[in-house]
Amino acid sequence: MMFNEEMYAYGAKGSAIREINSIGSKLAEEFGKENVYNYSIGNPSLPPPQSVYDAILSILKEPDQVAVHGYSSNWGMKDVRAHLAEGINSKFGQTLTYENIFLTCGSCAALSVLFKGLAVPGDEFIVIAPFFPEYTVFIEGAGAKQVIAMAHEGDFMIDIDNLRNAITEKTKAVIIDSPNNPTGAVYTEENIKALCSLLREKEAELGHPIYLISDEPYRAVVYDDIEVPYPMSYYDDSIICYSFSKSLSLAGERLGYIAFSNKMENWLDIAKAVYGAARINGHAGTPTLFQKVLLTCADDLTDISVYKTNRDILVENLSEMGYSFVYPDGAFYLMVKSPIADATEFAYDAANNYHLLLVPTDDFGYPGYVRLSYCVSTDMIKRSLPAFRKLAEAYGIC
Ligand code: PLP
Repeated sequence: MMFNEEMYAYGAKGSAIREINSIGSKLAEEFGKENVYNYSIGNPSLPPPQSVYDAILSILKEPDQVAVHGYSSNWGMKDVRAHLAEGINSKFGQTLTYENIFLTCGSCAALSVLFKGLAVPGDEFIVIAPFFPEYTVFIEGAGAKQVIAMAHEGDFMIDIDNLRNAITEKTKAVIIDSPNNPTGAVYTEENIKALCSLLREKEAELGHPIYLISDEPYRAVVYDDIEVPYPMSYYDDSIICYSFSKSLSLAGERLGYIAFSNKMENWLDIAKAVYGAARINGHAGTPTLFQKVLLTCADDLTDISVYKTNRDILVENLSEMGYSFVYPDGAFYLMVKSPIADATEFAYDAANNYHLLLVPTDDFGYPGYVRLSYCVSTDMIKRSLPAFRKLAEAYGIC
């Protein structure tokens, strides 16, 4: 064999997001970009905050430019890790040190090296559907098995009974993502407490840890003063995968970290196993310049008021037109129920005949819906409303 066929299968498989997006590019050529309404991609549509530009300019004037552009430790710079640990401690009452923090190239890298560092053959990782489709790739890439627990239909909270049924003696971890992609739901404190009490009960019954992995690229992207509970405050065996892609609009710079709870048994050994997995994957540290940006900007936030405006316009208008969805409290996604059972057919019709690019949620493990990414211009949203109305009329929902 000339190459690894298993890897080829992952590389060759297209995603619904990319397919819908490529229809969009063709439509834009034919009808003009302004007549195509692209809700398919979750790429931040806002610039980073001014503080990030100021920090970059100031770092570029530091006397030691060799260090600014050189390698850092594979774990990340010690002062940056200490700064991030202090931030977590002051916000969430933890007692972490630099040793609990491992810098990564975003949350994708964090998840993939974490799963690989934790998994032994036969392990099961539970995801809550709908879930970010890359979880499947990272879990399978770590040689483990993905097990799906469906979210609660009416509000997309974690369904504790479904999760209970999904846990077996092989369960290594449960992965959560709140604010959620694709639903926009934020798990309430009550829901997180119920989750943690189930995990504690199962740990005691099975006699081994079940890790709670919290994927948090959208932690800071919440509206209306909604609180996002910090899992580490409720559960000792918690590991957080954080990303600055959305909070600082730095998705292209690849910046994030893993925070290991220090209340977890053997946490430093687990961190070392993750470092081993990172070495195996050739993840040799994060860009030094952007690590330094974190020393002054880690807790800053891009001006997400535009996302909130977008959400409010969509929610108000789509509900008035008769579409069904769960009101999103965070992230920049809205998951709308397809008026027909086959959401892929609905999405293709919406794209080809109404120039609305919506992503069917089958790849997210939750068929029957389409996802709208509203990290787009408010102007595009307003221009797209007549198309949404025509689509609703065509399906008899308004
Ligand atoms: N996890 C979820 C739920 C996401 O939606 C995304 C990106 O859209 C990621 C992880 C990856 O983020 P990063 O840019 O930090 O790799």
